Amino acid sequence: MESKLPDAGTTIFTVMSRMAQEQGAINLSQGFPNFDGPQALRDRVSYHLNHGHNQYAPLAGVPELTEQIAKKVLDLYSRPIDPQRELVVTPGATEAIYCAVTAVVHPGDEVIVLDPAYDTYAPCVQLNGGITRHIPMHYPDFRINWNQVKDAINTKTRLIMLNMPHNPSGSNWSENDIECLRDIVQGTDISLLSDEVYEHIVFDSHPHHSLLRYADLAERSFSIFSFGKTYHTTGWRVGYCIAPKHLMQEFLRVHQFINFSTNTPMQFALADFLRDCPQHHLALGGFYQRKRDLFCELLQASRLRFTPSAGTFFQLADYSEISDEVDTEFVARLTREHKVAAIPVSVFYAAPPDQRVIRFCFAKDEQTLRRAAERLAAI
Ligand code: GLN
Repeated sequence: MESKLPDAGTTIFTVMSRMAQEQGAINLSQGFPNFDGPQALRDRVSYHLNHGHNQYAPLAGVPELTEQIAKKVLDLYSRPIDPQRELVVTPGATEAIYCAVTAVVHPGDEVIVLDPAYDTYAPCVQLNGGITRHIPMHYPDFRINWNQVKDAINTKTRLIMLNMPHNPSGSNWSENDIECLRDIVQGTDISLLSDEVYEHIVFDSHPHHSLLRYADLAERSFSIFSFGKTYHTTGWRVGYCIAPKHLMQEFLRVHQFINFSTNTPMQFALADFLRDCPQHHLALGGFYQRKRDLFCELLQASRLRFTPSAGTFFQLADYSEISDEVDTEFVARLTREHKVAAIPVSVFYAAPPDQRVIRFCFAKDEQTLRRAAERLAAI
C-alpha cells in the first residue's frame, strides 16, 4: 500500500525528546515548560472532575468557556465574536490546524507556507491532496519576502498559513507585514490560517498583531490559539479556533468527525480561571522575557551567536564557530556528548538553506537554564 505521507518520519519533537531522555540530557528541544501552571487552575480541574463534569462537552465547547474566550478576544483585540458560531474549543491547536486546512483545501489546491514552518502544516495540506508552495525566510531576521508571496499566488491558491509570533524563529510581525498581507489578499477569495499560539509571549514592548484586530483579514481567517502555552499546560491539549460563520461552519463539519468535542473538566476549569484571574495572561510576556534575558546573558559566555528572540519561548543560535556539521548531526552530538538537547532548524524547510542554526526552548526554571548554559559555554 502506498503511504499517504511517504516523506514523514517521526516528528522532530518526539525524536529529540526521546534522545534527551535516553542520553540523560537537559531537554531544551521540544517546546514545553518544566514547571506547572497556576495552582488555582489545577484546583478547579480537580473540583470539576469531582463535581459531575465528566461527560461529552458540546461540539463547540462548554458555553461557560466560549463566553469567557469571547470576552477575552473583545478586550484584547476589540473583536466581538459570537461564542456559539464563531468559536470552537479544540483538543490542542494541532487539531484546529488540521480541521481548518481540511475544511477549505480541496485536491489540487495550492497552499502558501512560509519556511521554516511548523512541522504539521505541510502534512495537513498533503493529506487533503493540496500542494504546498514554500516561501523561505532567512536567519537571522526571518523577514517575509512579500514580493515572493505575491508571485506565488495564482488562481489555485486557496490558503496562506501564517504563524506569529513565529516558531521556530522567535521573530514577530510588524505593522508593515499586516499591510503587505492586506494588499496581497484584497480582492481574492484566499483564506488565511493564523497560528497565534504564542499570542501573549511577545517581548520588548512590541504588540502581538493578531489578525483578529483587522476586520478585513479576520473575515477570511481561522485564528488559532492555545491554552497549553498560556497556562503552562501543554499536556492538557486544549486550544481554540476563531473564524467567521461561513468558515466555522465548514470547520465544525470536520471537527465533529475527528474529535467531536474537547475534554470537559479542563474546559470548566479554564472558564473559571479566565473569569477569576483575567490578568494572568497579561503577565506572560514579562515572565518569559526575563527567562529569555537570563538565557541570552548566560549564552554570552559561549561560542554560540544569536539575536534575542522577539517572541515565543524559543531562542535560535548559530553554532558555526563551534562546528560545521549539519544541524541534525550537531544536535545529536550535543545531546550525546554535552548533554543538552536542541532542535535542528533545517527540518522546518522544504529546501534547507546552508546555515548552522539550532533552536533552544527557554521555558525552563532558572536552575535548568543555568546548568544548560554552563554546558553550552564549555563547548
Ligand atoms: N510546539 C512544540 C514545539 O515547537 C512541540 C509540540 C509537539 O511536540 N507536538 O516544540
